[in-house]
Amino acid sequence: MSKRTPAEFHPETIAAAYGVASDIAFGAVAPPLYLSSTYEFAGFDAPRAYDYGRVGNPTRDLTAEAIAKLEGGAGAVMTPSGMAALDLLIGRLAAGSLVLAPHDCYGGTMRLLKARAERSQIRLSLVNQSDMEVFAGQLRDHPALVLIETPSNPLLRVVDIAALSTLAKNAGAQVVVDNTFLSPALQQPLSLGADYVLHSTTKFLNGHSDVIAGAVIAADAQEAKALKHWANVTGAIASPFDSWLTLRGLRTLFARMAGQERNAMTVAQRLRDHPAVSRVHYPGLADHPDHGLARRQQRGFGAMMSFELVGDVPAVRRFVGAVRGFTLAESLGGVESLVAHPTTMTHADMGPEARANAGIRDGLVRLSVGLEHIDDLLAGLEAGLQAAEGPSEDA
Ligand SMILES: *Cc1c(COP(=O)(O)O)cnc(C)c1O
Repeated sequence: MSKRTPAEFHPETIAAAYGVASDIAFGAVAPPLYLSSTYEFAGFDAPRAYDYGRVGNPTRDLTAEAIAKLEGGAGAVMTPSGMAALDLLIGRLAAGSLVLAPHDCYGGTMRLLKARAERSQIRLSLVNQSDMEVFAGQLRDHPALVLIETPSNPLLRVVDIAALSTLAKNAGAQVVVDNTFLSPALQQPLSLGADYVLHSTTKFLNGHSDVIAGAVIAADAQEAKALKHWANVTGAIASPFDSWLTLRGLRTLFARMAGQERNAMTVAQRLRDHPAVSRVHYPGLADHPDHGLARRQQRGFGAMMSFELVGDVPAVRRFVGAVRGFTLAESLGGVESLVAHPTTMTHADMGPEARANAGIRDGLVRLSVGLEHIDDLLAGLEAGLQAAEGPSEDA
């Protein structure tokens, strides 16, 4: 890639400048967007670097390279969504392989894994990965793949990537970590022993809520090549434009994460001290059960949190009706603040039993904290919390 952004540069430099001024044709500073589906051969039996857009695309490859470098991986594949990224890994497994996943993983992840298991394409075991003894017990069934999601969605539970990876690899399993909630700016699972990192780049990596895409990063060069081959075989490739937008979003990753985390910490403290709130789940708070582990394993605490309202569902209804500055919407990781109710939105498909099992209560509210001025966020939040405390309209 560009001589001006060698791989040994700091991650901040990779994010801001990878591929900058690498355009040979015109010296464009911003990397061009290549939309062409096909490429002219130099002559008979003489393909150039690219021949067909499913196999490879300069824009998609550049973004994948930048993300791979940020994660400290050997290579990466950009997929059309985060779910497609997970399915890329699942689809390569031999039929009937055992997959070990957290009992409180992202709702869409659980839906995909269960759908594959119901069709006997994989076997699935859901386990509380905070419990090392239970986890070690499950490893006796020889899983092919262990999925780790930390911090978890929506409860922000943190699990020990290094400890789980060591156990899993000793048992012959490969380990993939969903790093969507923190991004490589705040956590690098490959350096902690994982084989793969998975991203919904829809979230913090793109950061502007205008792309659905995903990525799988491999620690090993052969594995990266095999994944790229599999993406071509199955056609699970991100579009050039989505890739280009994602690279554009990546430019400000570190600055966004820092600013959003600063806002998030203040919001979490305000929630903790508020009488309308019974519990706050944010690993940055010293009394969070996984605070110590998060401090060790992460470079920051991120911008995601959830909390429980005293008045349960009626209070949630009043809160989302009155809160300002937080838009009621699914997704997360953009520069604008969002609020979601996991039970009726992101985690509705899980069903009440699996939700109860994972500790996701009906009064739980999830926040993705953005880059707005903190005073506006706090004022908007206060409006929602005051309404949450008020008399029930549906009484
Ligand atoms: C959103 C999300 C996904 C799924 O990604 P899509 O891009 O929506 O397909 C996977 N894991 C986590 C943690 C997520 O938040």
